[in-house]
Amino acid sequence: MFYKILIANRGEIALRIIRACKELGIRTVAIHSTSDRDALHVRLADERVCIGPDEPDRSYLNISAILTAAEITDADAIHPGYGFLAENPDFAEACENCGITFIGPRVEHIRLMGNKVEARAIAEKAGVPVLPGSPTGLKDEREALEIAKEIGFPVILKAAGGGGGRGMKIIHSPTSFQNAFHAAKTEASIAFRNGEIYIEKYCERPRHIEVQLMADRYGHIIHLGERECSIQRRHQKLIEEAPAPRLDERVRKDIREAALTLAKHIGYTNLGTVEFLVEGRDFYFIEMNTRIQVEHPVTEMITGIDIVKEQIRLSYGEKLRLRQRDVEFRGHSIECRITAEDPERFTPSPGVVRELHIPGGLGVRVDSALRNGCIISPHYDPLIAKVITHGSDREEAISRMLRALEELVITGVSTTIPLYQKILRDHDFVEGDIDVEYIGRLR
Ligand code: ADP
Repeated sequence: MFYKILIANRGEIALRIIRACKELGIRTVAIHSTSDRDALHVRLADERVCIGPDEPDRSYLNISAILTAAEITDADAIHPGYGFLAENPDFAEACENCGITFIGPRVEHIRLMGNKVEARAIAEKAGVPVLPGSPTGLKDEREALEIAKEIGFPVILKAAGGGGGRGMKIIHSPTSFQNAFHAAKTEASIAFRNGEIYIEKYCERPRHIEVQLMADRYGHIIHLGERECSIQRRHQKLIEEAPAPRLDERVRKDIREAALTLAKHIGYTNLGTVEFLVEGRDFYFIEMNTRIQVEHPVTEMITGIDIVKEQIRLSYGEKLRLRQRDVEFRGHSIECRITAEDPERFTPSPGVVRELHIPGGLGVRVDSALRNGCIISPHYDPLIAKVITHGSDREEAISRMLRALEELVITGVSTTIPLYQKILRDHDFVEGDIDVEYIGRLR
């Protein structure tokens, strides 16, 4: 097994990886920016290296500083977590060139799936349904408009290199096409340093459902079921659950099968998630994430499988220890992503955490790097805690979540806790009547 892993991340995911390493008997190295010196991930790791100032470009995204930290601490692998460099194929390649294992899939697969228009084309080739759209990146506005007319409005323009729900433009008629096209292109070039955009049919009220996969290097692959991620704001996930509620059993089976088909088609290895939009009995591939995801705990709660530990084992070259028939699903799990933001306007709320009480009790898990007096920096993602509950059924998972959120105390910064309390009491949510437009309808 690996002797020492450097964690190229911060916050709750760095902690999550440290926990997995400790249980596997692997030493850990934390990297941190200047003002993160007292952060929990730094305290809990066996070794620590300051890699630069607070601006992410100069620290958590600074590839040469991170590789130097790995070399001086003699780490034999790097876990990227999610965000930052997790889906950067150049980083994965640089690790391999330095003789350090990148904990994730092969570089070629990160690169392939990192281009969403190419990923779509591959899914189509594999026989997995995709939405009507452009087969490649769009050459110019005229071509884009022609395709839009062919597939019919509304359409959505998306960045090939996109992520985090950013840079998407929904267009309802040809009149607003020109502006939207140029805005999408400019935004994509600035946000993702890649101006390539593509077009897709826009689904009016789909559900977002994704399948967790795990594959070794010897041709064995399994799924760990699906997650429902329809509760979103600005195309970003707020609440996730497993299994997907009120899903037609045939669709559930087909969607899991489709995810496996795509991964097998490209010979994918390690952890991966295949994301779909679901409309009634139809489902369409939208993208594949080649990393651990924020919402992985809900899958862990219903399967009892430590996904991060398995990922580390797979990266070391071990065989999958589980067969599909060993994976059992028990009960229901829900995750709420608590962010340091104004719950109504979603504006950031950086500051210092004054009072903190983390809930507990049966079926409650909190993944968080919060501590009394810790600083919530405006430089980083506002996610400060993931509250996860598990119950024998969805009703119990919901009531447990309401109970846990009532116990949770975080003062000094505004948080989105009140928003979650509202959603969890809402009739439509409780009934499982949800889709990606749900938040817009919530009063
Ligand atoms: P990102 O990589 O930025 O997260 P995704 O392709 O995964 O982008 O899509 C994120 C969300 O955007 C989806 O869950 C959905 O809410 C919305 N979305 C993306 N494509 C479409 C589409 N064709 N029709 C309707 N909504 C879409």
